Amino acid sequence: MDIIHSLARMKERARSWQSQGVGIALVPTMGALHEGHLALVREAKRHAPVVVVSIFVNPIQFGPKEDWNRYPRDLEGDLRKLGPLGVTCVFAPKVQEMYPEGFETRVVQERLPEHLCGLSRPGHFSGVATVVLKLFHLCKPTVAVFGLKDYQQVLVIERLVRDLDLDVRIVRHPTVREPDGLAMSSRNAYLTPTERRVAPELYATLRLIRDQVRGGATDIAHAIKEGRKRLEQDGFAVEYLEIVDARTLDPTREIDRPCLVVAAARLGSTRLIDNEFILREEECHPVGDSNEEVFRWKPHP
Ligand code: AMP
Repeated sequence: MDIIHSLARMKERARSWQSQGVGIALVPTMGALHEGHLALVREAKRHAPVVVVSIFVNPIQFGPKEDWNRYPRDLEGDLRKLGPLGVTCVFAPKVQEMYPEGFETRVVQERLPEHLCGLSRPGHFSGVATVVLKLFHLCKPTVAVFGLKDYQQVLVIERLVRDLDLDVRIVRHPTVREPDGLAMSSRNAYLTPTERRVAPELYATLRLIRDQVRGGATDIAHAIKEGRKRLEQDGFAVEYLEIVDARTLDPTREIDRPCLVVAAARLGSTRLIDNEFILREEECHPVGDSNEEVFRWKPHP
């Protein structure tokens, strides 16, 4: 497993694979790797013979009051975990080389960041889209794997790829969870033992709302209100708890299209996010004109 820090070297390697017609699968991460990341790496291996894992705690996606400084970093531990997985190369660039003096270009999207996490984290998705575009240019992937735990991020990247005609296929990977349901996250390391015991309630609440809605509950607003109350009683400071259109992220009260229940909440100083599909795309079928974004439940067999 090659460890590359230099941008020029990464480009050179990527060019050489590209000229030989070898597929390259990229897994972008911020390190402090856990089983969720490793599942993405295993998925990447199914899509291309060359697998590149990038490890970079991207400063431009963190707000001035956010946790860039204290974000967990453990390159040695990460390399040990990736060692047995057959990764071709780990790309761990330095901040000074990614963003040298004078850097000022950013990818900005208009609509998607106006929702959910974008509201409390201004500039976050622009920072994500910018670094991912840079990583795509440097690593030249034919496929890139992203986790559905960060659902809004997946939509941002898919939009980036479509809007800028990038030659990379985005693969979505399901959220990997602890046995008690908590979505794995590098930030879970911040939780105190008491908070860690409470943390799975976030996903439990999303499941409850999903089950109520799928079970036929029609008062969606009430289900959300009760879910929020439940989380607050457990000690969460809820930033948002919503049912949203899976494509636009607009809140929806009609379960007539692909949609999911999404949440962001703080436990002490730790911000947790999670989501659960209520109605998946494959459970719906478009009605009428194929350009029309109108869906109906697909009748269950
Ligand atoms: P991060 O290191 O947090 O930036 O995450 C890197 C990639 O791993 C992103 O595509 C995340 O969505 C994905 N990821 C993080 N946690 C999980 C998880 N629990 N399950 C699946 N994917 C994850």
